[in-house]
Amino acid sequence: MSVSLDIVGDDLKVALPTGETVRFAHLDYAASAPCVSAAAEAVADLLPRYGSVHRGTGVRSQSSTIAYELARDVVAEFVGAGPEHEVIFTRNTTDAFNLLARCLPAGTTTIVFDGEHHANLLPWPNPVRLPAPSSPAEALRSLEQALRNTTGDVLVTVTGASNVTGEIWPVRQIAGLAHHYGARVAVDAAQLAPHRPVDLTELQADYLAFSGHKLYAPFGAGVLAGRWDWLDAAPPYLAGGGASAAVGDRPGELDWATGPARHEGGTPNLLGAVAVAAVCEALTAADRDVLAAQEELLLDRLRAGLATIPGVTEVSLFGPKHPRVGIVSLAFADEDPADVALRLGRDHGIGVRAGQFCAHPLVRRLTGRAETADCGTATGLLRISFGLGSTTDDVDRVLAALRNT
Ligand code: PMP
Repeated sequence: MSVSLDIVGDDLKVALPTGETVRFAHLDYAASAPCVSAAAEAVADLLPRYGSVHRGTGVRSQSSTIAYELARDVVAEFVGAGPEHEVIFTRNTTDAFNLLARCLPAGTTTIVFDGEHHANLLPWPNPVRLPAPSSPAEALRSLEQALRNTTGDVLVTVTGASNVTGEIWPVRQIAGLAHHYGARVAVDAAQLAPHRPVDLTELQADYLAFSGHKLYAPFGAGVLAGRWDWLDAAPPYLAGGGASAAVGDRPGELDWATGPARHEGGTPNLLGAVAVAAVCEALTAADRDVLAAQEELLLDRLRAGLATIPGVTEVSLFGPKHPRVGIVSLAFADEDPADVALRLGRDHGIGVRAGQFCAHPLVRRLTGRAETADCGTATGLLRISFGLGSTTDDVDRVLAALRNT
């Protein structure tokens, strides 16, 4: 199987209002990254021969079942899963955290910072919400205070890398602190996984979630990996076929399946799982340090250029020197970021995103705006994000366009 991390469709052309045709510069990887060859080939390979997973005796069904479970094994290796962990295929990160939220033992306290994407803010029942910190040290201080005041089961849930600032959160230190107080830790790896290794042991995390479509695979599949005990003790996330081991004649007379099948009710998304696994395999085979170093060069070039453009300010929680992945968000002195983003797309063939990136509390904090009555129509920011296959040409084009818009 191919382990190529070449981007599929990186030669997409767009016509500008001037009549000129240019290569589309995709700088919105944080929303959905383009697909790599490894994923595209894995899907193409299965298309002519797939069948139902876990449900048939024919060769299509049997080989599909094998492919699906192999995909699970590959993802398990990618996240460094041990015997205490399991890997559940979900639709995306949002789905993964909603699943986990349903599996928390009754009365669990969840602790979350206001720096999170809504996918890691909204699923949790009665969360303790801590203000977005100004430094990793402040994060640890306020977390410790919160942990001191909790009893019973506690889940601290934190992003690995921010989808707004790209900043890498001090997950290992947060996990160390949480574990000291007997709490568990979930990591939102939606933005970290495409850029850095995400190993449960390395991060000392109990749970990890990420989305295939941000990890260079197509849409529809995500992952929840983590400790199986809470997951196996909870009712199925999706009750139905596959989630049930035996069903009697009377309501309630049934045995739920154990293991990942318990929460994967219905026919699984084989193509999605195989695509995610193909990327995991390709990334595992790659030199991640080299990939990170290439990204760092582009990031330095972008940030150095941005610093010379009047009226444009890069935002951050932890300060400009804090490590980050290939994501930069900008505030404008006297322009609406949505207008700028529109012009970049229309006049320059450059795709970015403007808005609040499903992180309203964080963006309000970064833009210094008080909460609005409708809790979210603040102007927002403009985000530039990139990854595998991004080039200095992409960076130079967005800098030139920002200078001239
Ligand atoms: N967490 C983070 C940090 C994200 O960036 C995103 C997507 N923007 C999500 C969670 C949710 O991912 P999905 O929409 O794939 O569920």
